[in-house]
Amino acid sequence: MKNKQTTLLFIALLHIFSFQLLAQKNSSTKSIDALKNETAQSIQSGYDTYKKIALSIWDYAELGYKEDKSSTLLQNTLKDNGFTVEAGVAGISTAFVATYGSGSPVIGILAEYDALPGISQDNSPTKTTIANKNNGHACGHHLFGTGSVVTGIAIKKLLEAGKIKGTIKVFGCPAEEGGSGKVYMVREGLLDGVDIVLHWHAWDSNLTINTSALANKSAKFRFYGISSHASVSPEKGRSALDAVEAINMMVNMMREHRSLICLQTQH
Ligand SMILES: [Zn+2]
Repeated sequence: MKNKQTTLLFIALLHIFSFQLLAQKNSSTKSIDALKNETAQSIQSGYDTYKKIALSIWDYAELGYKEDKSSTLLQNTLKDNGFTVEAGVAGISTAFVATYGSGSPVIGILAEYDALPGISQDNSPTKTTIANKNNGHACGHHLFGTGSVVTGIAIKKLLEAGKIKGTIKVFGCPAEEGGSGKVYMVREGLLDGVDIVLHWHAWDSNLTINTSALANKSAKFRFYGISSHASVSPEKGRSALDAVEAINMMVNMMREHRSLICLQTQH
């Protein structure tokens, strides 16, 4: 739990630093350090509450687009701390935007809280499934959602005290594990006017990663065959299954023999 605690603090400090950098370009390092310390203490003082929230989301272990309890818990936490929450945005019942403050800069923080199927696990460090429970949190989205909300609240306190200026928005993003919740939120224009969006993910150590990852685009392909008698006139038939097998083989060959950059640019 110590590591999780450290991770929460780290990410909050990172956000505070970025926020401060954008909000008050001429602030001295000293004042930024003071805000960092204040934020760390603020988060530390709420540690038991935040831990409880994270463990509740762990227990809920709700799949993408069905994160009803997890989303509600995070929304209520933000409301209790003075945020205005718009729920059910982009036509998704578990998506939300929580806002505090006004004016520029507008800083967004993403929160995710969906679980995965087939990895039921209690909260012990060894593989221990829970009877009659299928879902679980594989990569720490219970911390992810909680950490982002905690960060939003910490920044809100600084805004409220007039120590920084601007708007903080916590975006509750459903279905990160496979479902593209954020895509619909962007398409709805919910991120329009946001100056920067900060993101993080639970990990087994504190670090920043400067890399990119492949985006993916899904599509449906349909294969149609032509029926023909198998022994009288097989040459007149066209097998849809053959086409499926052929495309599978050719896509595999493309992946093995072309670089990711080629695939990205010539797709
Ligand atoms: Zn994840």
